[in-house]
Amino acid sequence: MSERSKVVIAIVGGGIGGICAAIGLGRIGYDVHIFEQAPQFSEIGAGVGVGGNGVRTLHAMGLGEDYEKIADMSEPYAPWFTFLTWDKGDVVTSVPMHGRRGNVHRARFLDCLLQHMPSNVTTHFSTRVTEVRNVDDGNGTPSRACLSIMTANSTSTEWFEASAVIGCDGVKSVVRDSFHSEMGGRILYSGSYAYRGLVDMKKAVEQTGEIMRQPAMWMGKDKHAVLFPIDHGKVLNIVTFVTDRSVDVNERVWEGPWVKPASHEQMDRDFRGWDPRLRIALSLIDKPEVWALHDLSILDRWTVGRVTLLGDSAHASMPHNGAGAGQAIEDAYVLAKLFEHPACNAETIPDFLQAYEDVRRPRASYQQIHCRESGDIYEFASPLGDDLTKIDFHLRDRYSWIWDHNLDHDVEYALSSLRKKGVIVT
Ligand SMILES: Cc1cc2nc3c(=O)[nH]c(=O)nc-3n(C[C@H](O)[C@H](O)[C@H](O)COP(=O)(O)OP(=O)(O)OC[C@H]3O[C@@H](n4cnc5c(N)ncnc54)[C@H](O)[C@@H]3O)c2cc1C
Repeated sequence: MSERSKVVIAIVGGGIGGICAAIGLGRIGYDVHIFEQAPQFSEIGAGVGVGGNGVRTLHAMGLGEDYEKIADMSEPYAPWFTFLTWDKGDVVTSVPMHGRRGNVHRARFLDCLLQHMPSNVTTHFSTRVTEVRNVDDGNGTPSRACLSIMTANSTSTEWFEASAVIGCDGVKSVVRDSFHSEMGGRILYSGSYAYRGLVDMKKAVEQTGEIMRQPAMWMGKDKHAVLFPIDHGKVLNIVTFVTDRSVDVNERVWEGPWVKPASHEQMDRDFRGWDPRLRIALSLIDKPEVWALHDLSILDRWTVGRVTLLGDSAHASMPHNGAGAGQAIEDAYVLAKLFEHPACNAETIPDFLQAYEDVRRPRASYQQIHCRESGDIYEFASPLGDDLTKIDFHLRDRYSWIWDHNLDHDVEYALSSLRKKGVIVT
């Protein structure tokens, strides 16, 4: 038994972030345990777009080839996402994706990732984590971390011990809440809600035309719509956004469940006056849902002792850059790359977690801010207003810092900071 296989790592949450982290850490030999409150891994019936950065990272993790088989991939550097006017569908600009972007059905994506789950990863389904603590044996540094876990149908909790806990438990993170005084973090209602749903592409094209096959963003005052094909062009993924900016940004409140069924009448009312093709596409959604969109304030810290955060628990953002899942994949890659270093062991784990945070937090936090601004641009609420010439000029290069980023430089930077601290002695 290798030394590494005796080091237990607990991952809280089995979404895209938790699964990618488990694959990365399991592969390099750690004893990985995923705690997932649901009875199985599952994703919602909707599409997700993974940008050039995410696709490259999936390739670096050995997952890219399988991903490309199930995703609708863009051509490298070809104009890909087209921005259209709300009322006539006129082209404002076309933004190239800087590398290959892939849009995919979420459930298919999860299945693809799960094929790569190493056998040394144990998954505890129907198990909710209720609290996480660092345990200090009296010398001032935590020797281990503990999770309080509760299985379905049980009324009591038990403790599970690990050398590290990675909180991948989404925007409402219990791991983050366990360290609220150190990490901070406030969940914020954005003032936006979104209608989501899928439509058979053949039906959409028959009733509205070829425009539906093109990944597109329709932009208008306080509203926008994102439509892109998935499942090799057979299905049209639709998300349309409506924002109430009448209330101050810090005082927006959503009452009731975050996700609920929506009616076609409600959607049609909200998009009255918009291009008829878009409204017809909306009318074709079977069982539309409305989602109240929340994001997270920028955290003070992600890491306390042997506990860190990854994915939406650390940096939930608005979906306006189509980059949240990509950031979670990046987190998982960087963490696993650092944990692969021979100097990473049960004792040095807190230093490696801190190095992970130091290199990931600035980029992922900026993405949160940038997303909100993107929403304002699409909905004519930014300083660019509804001036389409300015919007065109601005959008062309708005996203390159997300899609073109070199993560291996970040890994190198983190390793060099660990060398400077004397954690890595070469
Ligand atoms: C409308 C919309 C559109 C989007 N479109 C895109 C897009 O096109 N591209 C993109 O990159 N991103 C997109 N995103 C963002 C993306 O979906 C998220 O960033 C990503 O799914 C986050 O993954 P995660 O694993 O961090 O968290 P989650 O997917 O939230 O997973 C958290 C997991 O933890 C589990 N869990 C929670 N609490 C506990 C607990 N206490 N104990 C045990 N288990 C627990 C949950 O059951 C869940 O399985 C979009 C988001 C929205 C809302």
